[in-house]
Amino acid sequence: MSKIFVVFWFDCEDFITPESDDALKRLAEILSANNVRGVFKLVGEKLRTLERRRRWDVIEALKHHEIGYHTNYHSVHPTVAEYLKDMGFEEGALEFLKSEREGVEDIKRVFNAIPSCYGQPGGAWAPQVYLALKLLEIPTYLDLTDFIDLYGRPFWYCGILNILNLTGFRGGVIGLNFELGISGFIDKAIGEFNEIYQRILDGDKWGIISVFNHPCTLVTKEFWDAVNFSGGLNTPMNWLKPAELKPRDWIDAGYVDFDKFVKHVKSKPFVEVVTASELHHLFRDYALNRFFNKNEIACLASDLISISFREINNAYVSASEIFWLITASLAEYKTNGILPSKVKNNYPLGPYRLFKSDSLDMVKLEEFLKVSYDVKLFIESNNRIPDSIEINSVKVSPVDFLASEAELYMELYRGEKPEEVRLIEGRFEPDSYVSIEGAKSCWRWIIFPKDFEAWNLVELAKLQTWTIKPATLNI
Ligand SMILES: [Zn+2]
Repeated sequence: MSKIFVVFWFDCEDFITPESDDALKRLAEILSANNVRGVFKLVGEKLRTLERRRRWDVIEALKHHEIGYHTNYHSVHPTVAEYLKDMGFEEGALEFLKSEREGVEDIKRVFNAIPSCYGQPGGAWAPQVYLALKLLEIPTYLDLTDFIDLYGRPFWYCGILNILNLTGFRGGVIGLNFELGISGFIDKAIGEFNEIYQRILDGDKWGIISVFNHPCTLVTKEFWDAVNFSGGLNTPMNWLKPAELKPRDWIDAGYVDFDKFVKHVKSKPFVEVVTASELHHLFRDYALNRFFNKNEIACLASDLISISFREINNAYVSASEIFWLITASLAEYKTNGILPSKVKNNYPLGPYRLFKSDSLDMVKLEEFLKVSYDVKLFIESNNRIPDSIEINSVKVSPVDFLASEAELYMELYRGEKPEEVRLIEGRFEPDSYVSIEGAKSCWRWIIFPKDFEAWNLVELAKLQTWTIKPATLNI
């Protein structure tokens, strides 16, 4: 039977315009009246502003829903991508914790729960955030971005579930924002929903329709941050200007439209409305902590010149997991003289720096196995793949090292015992899921300073595609 998951999510960020608090409350109430739970991604300052304005009624309305996170100050400069732009992976993750933790703590204090998901402000996507999310125990990334994409489907990246750009038979994304309340808009949006719905039904049994809104857009004609923070401008907090309001009848028509849309979604037979944490549960990663046997590892190691994630017995395994499984096998071979019959999976992060091999030669088997053994220890204590691997004072990249390890694994698997190991060049495929054009389009976000670029973020994002792999529905 087909499953069409619909997630309603709301970026709640306007801490300037008081009327946007009412919009937030109304939308939460419309969902509740339709017996639907939404995901409200709160900006820390928005939540604190609700408290300052004593809007306990809004907070109460939100308690029926799930709370996600949308940074501490959103568009106040430096935004996430601005302060992470030149930082390393770990350094950046720590900086994110320093700048953004306050809002997470406020959510915990008020709602007594860890945010179920995170999404970046506008174009401020950055890879270091993923490590910070792991440390904050926020397991899902729910948003839109052109920066990274895996065939328009949900995917794992750095151990975080990503629900981003859904396309094709895996779903679609619908934005319901300023146009709510304009005659004809909601029927168009319902038409778009029906089209995606049909596409999923015609496809492969399941898909996700991601429906998003910014509550402030129900009441304002323009974004609160465009008014105060465009092009790198930092209007001082006590000079902030609210955005221009919509007339009353337009605002009211917007709520009627939104209610109509929710009712339409609910009327469709294969729809299940879900939250971010429910999606995380549905798409649980069964490769995690699973044992892989020798034959499975041989499957993963065969023809591994071209390195990417692979599927084995209904489980997707990332390039970094393949790196672990083969390295751990060879480490055990060094100790016991036989390949292990099974290996427990591990999901390390990718390297932190890009490295190109000095040269590739022949190496004695014993020397090579000793290095595999040391690399296994490195992964166990650092939970990542090393930037480079030194063999006989020659440094090789993890890509070439894995390609060489895989060839050796296959020889040993076939019962051969070579005296020497040939170091070969591997080809790393997954970095193509990070889009240069997409990154550039993110950097055109109106809030960034003019001509903003952040190429270091592209490089770090590519390195972490060692961890990318499709997320699949467990039914
Ligand atoms: Zn936002």
